[in-house]
Amino acid sequence: MDFTFSEEQQQLRRSVREFAEGEVRPHVMEWDEASHFPIEIMPKLGEMGLLGVIFPEEYGGAGLGYVDYVIAIEELSRVDGSVGIIVAAHNSLCSNHIFKFGTEAQKKKYLVPLAQGKHIGAWSLTEPGAGSDAGGTRSTARRDGNFWVLNGAKTFTTNGHYADTCVAMAVTDKEKGSHGISAFILEKGMPGFKPGKKENKLGMRASDTSEVTFSDCRVPLENLLGPEGEGFTGSLKILDGGRISIAALALGMAQGALEAAVNYAKQRKQFGQAISEFQAIQFKLADMATEVEAARLLVYQAAWLADRRDVRFTRESSMAKLFASEVAVRVANECVQIHGGYGFIKDYPAEKYYRDVKLCTIGEGTSEIQKLVIARQLLGKK
Ligand SMILES: Cc1cc2nc3c(=O)[nH]c(=O)nc-3n(C[C@H](O)[C@H](O)[C@H](O)COP(=O)(O)OP(=O)(O)OC[C@H]3O[C@@H](n4cnc5c(N)ncnc54)[C@H](O)[C@@H]3O)c2cc1C
Repeated sequence: MDFTFSEEQQQLRRSVREFAEGEVRPHVMEWDEASHFPIEIMPKLGEMGLLGVIFPEEYGGAGLGYVDYVIAIEELSRVDGSVGIIVAAHNSLCSNHIFKFGTEAQKKKYLVPLAQGKHIGAWSLTEPGAGSDAGGTRSTARRDGNFWVLNGAKTFTTNGHYADTCVAMAVTDKEKGSHGISAFILEKGMPGFKPGKKENKLGMRASDTSEVTFSDCRVPLENLLGPEGEGFTGSLKILDGGRISIAALALGMAQGALEAAVNYAKQRKQFGQAISEFQAIQFKLADMATEVEAARLLVYQAAWLADRRDVRFTRESSMAKLFASEVAVRVANECVQIHGGYGFIKDYPAEKYYRDVKLCTIGEGTSEIQKLVIARQLLGKK
């Protein structure tokens, strides 16, 4: 057993950290306050290979694995969770769905520009009436000559307003239940396909979360992604990988909050000494650091399993996502507490971590749903 990262992985961590500290950190609060999608850093993220981390070079990707991907998401999210989620939804949801289920022609046409960072990707499964119960999808796709005609509305699509390519799920055969849902590749500008309401959020405010609507949207037959009727089962496989990235997002923010708490505790003086001298604060920091490290082990274990490609990692990715996101919420809460009143004030980073981390217990399956997934695996249920 070897817990060390390779020299290349350490270099990747250094370069993503340098980018995040230099080009993200100075703008974090300005983007958050204005709910500004940081479109200006997308070309640089593309140049660094971060918009195609897990895809082979022949498809425009960086040819790296999930461990490398987790390093990148962790480092971006340590500074700004919004940047982390933008990159995560692009890579492990939209692009990966095309990589895993696309034809060669679809990969050449859609995956290559996504992985090169020339296009931005989004993935639309959730609907107003179909969240945890995503099999309850209502959007429809009916065949008409050489086209599928899509109607319906998706909600909470990350990158919805900025996506050039969107993978969306719609019902093609109502009688077949979850085996009657198919996946489609949509392009920005297709008539009848447009983003709707942009959500005004508690946290992750620099990321875009939007409605996406289809109104008699005609999609060429060749844009069906994967076998007809298998879009929902395909989505569950995509979420196995996606949950590792949400776990990494939580881990990065927890690490950022821990560091902010340590720094503040060392410099804040009360009763004539740094508050880090009080055992009550030291115990909080020790608990936070231990939980972050335990989360890190679960997250990197899940990524390592995903890289082996010959094993299922549904249970481990759900465990990593469940544990890391709940840890991140606890750590961000203690970070605010250690900051006292200043933890409530926007001049300090604590309040933003506190707002942002909450998404991680909800997106790509709530904590309750992760527990159902884990229990099903334990009990051998389908
Ligand atoms: C910022 C943000 C970004 C997102 N990005 C995307 C995206 O890019 N693409 C996409 O498709 N979706 C996205 N989502 C949607 C997200 O995945 C859903 O919000 C999530 O799956 C929960 O669905 P819901 O909000 O409808 O909650 P509900 O399903 O209504 O859940 C409400 C509560 O009931 C609980 N609950 C539901 N069913 C059960 C059950 N069987 N047992 C126990 N408890 C249960 C839940 O755990 C939760 O506590 C995003 C959401 C947010 C907030």
